[in-house]
Amino acid sequence: MEFGFGPEDEEFRAEARGWLAEHLTGEFAGAVGRGGPGSEHEGGAQRRAWERELGRGGWIGLGWGSGAYGNRQATLTQQVVWAEEYARVRAPGRYGHIGENLLAPTLLAYGSQEQRDEFLPAIARGEALWCQGYSEPGAGSDLAGVRTRAERDERVERVERVERDGAGDFRVTGQKVWTSLAHEADWCFVLARTGGGERPHEGLSFLLVDMDQPGRIEVRPIRQLTGTSEFNEVFFDGARARAAHVVGGVGNGWRVAMGLLGFERGVSTLVQQIGFAEELGGVVREAVAGGAVDDPVVRERLVRQWSELRVMRWNALRMLGGAGAGAGASGGGGSAGAGGSGGGEPSVAKLLWGRWHQRLGELAMAVRGASAAVGPGDWCVDAPYELDAFQRLFLFSRADTIYGGSDEVQRNIIAERVLGLPREAKGPR
Ligand SMILES: Cc1cc2nc3c(=O)[nH]c(=O)nc-3n(C[C@H](O)[C@H](O)[C@H](O)COP(=O)(O)OP(=O)(O)OC[C@H]3O[C@@H](n4cnc5c(N)ncnc54)[C@H](O)[C@@H]3O)c2cc1C
Repeated sequence: MEFGFGPEDEEFRAEARGWLAEHLTGEFAGAVGRGGPGSEHEGGAQRRAWERELGRGGWIGLGWGSGAYGNRQATLTQQVVWAEEYARVRAPGRYGHIGENLLAPTLLAYGSQEQRDEFLPAIARGEALWCQGYSEPGAGSDLAGVRTRAERDERVERVERVERDGAGDFRVTGQKVWTSLAHEADWCFVLARTGGGERPHEGLSFLLVDMDQPGRIEVRPIRQLTGTSEFNEVFFDGARARAAHVVGGVGNGWRVAMGLLGFERGVSTLVQQIGFAEELGGVVREAVAGGAVDDPVVRERLVRQWSELRVMRWNALRMLGGAGAGAGASGGGGSAGAGGSGGGEPSVAKLLWGRWHQRLGELAMAVRGASAAVGPGDWCVDAPYELDAFQRLFLFSRADTIYGGSDEVQRNIIAERVLGLPREAKGPR
């Protein structure tokens, strides 16, 4: 694939750079560099306001392929330009990425026009924040095992039959876990069992659930290794979901859920790598400033990180260019992911970047030396403790080989779909 920046891209860059310089000031200056993985607790209110500022500037939804929802449209290279400029000025970690990058493309692919018209403008304005309700205590890698139920509320059905031709709303009951940003989210897309079908992935539906249902939805933050809480347990106790908010039709949830996981790839891989390059740059600077670079082993490891990042970039470009044909899901939350790439590229990419990022965290600790084990501020076991950027990188990157489909799950996908190995045995042997 030809990938270079033309004059129009440079014009776009100047516009993006100018807008960021003009808007990332005043009330937003304090949010610069805040809100990345492991520091998602920082700058909450400012970052919510920043989402709306981005929305006013039309910077949300650049890759939606349609500019019909108040978003501006951008080419692939322009999306990369925007991500580069965003990273360069260390603009705040995004709160709205789940709605923008996961739900919106899903609604564009599987949703009804009414659903798009209802939900996409609020995402583009930076007003509605979303979370992903897939994983459950007994269903992570094996996502088809979800037990949360969504049942027709016959009472509602009777009352509204005349108005809505018998379409009854749903009552959602069950528990989700590891739900990132649920404590901030206005809406949650929930994979729930609506019944029917003989196999586990049949009889599932993909529902859009309003999080503002006191007494019917409870969000309990989970404290993580970083001392902060990015994800949560979410309990649904008869929470209401409108029948009009089932995406792709009742019983088609598996197809929609797997389609959504495919959207985790694409241009976001390149965007992610821009962040990685920034982090690697920080580790290199620290190695030079602190003298760790004199150690030949550290030098070797730094160069290896750089080279591997280049390889990942070429791989991503090749995938985006279609050479790796097959943009299917790699089973982000489920080993039984439908679709899938013929060449297993998304799984290969996930395996590479997950471990690469973990190794970068380990390298950051090695560069810092023994002082890496000590926090920058006072802390005690009962209070959230302060960590610096390297420590957060090291601790948070432990999760990189788990979320978005664990390493073992990715290897299973490659084994079965690419190498043609026999499917793994299920249950007791
Ligand atoms: C930081 C973070 C954010 C997350 N955010 C969200 C979110 O917003 N929404 C959401 O729904 N989920 C989220 N998750 C959950 C994530 O999708 C799951 O953790 C992941 O799918 C693994 O599921 P599990 O935790 O239940 O582990 P399990 O599936 O129980 O796996 C435990 C271990 O067994 C291995 N294993 C499982 N099955 C197999 C197999 N068949 N063969 C070989 N090994 C196997 C796994 O690789 C893993 O090492 C998040 C997770 C993390 C870490």
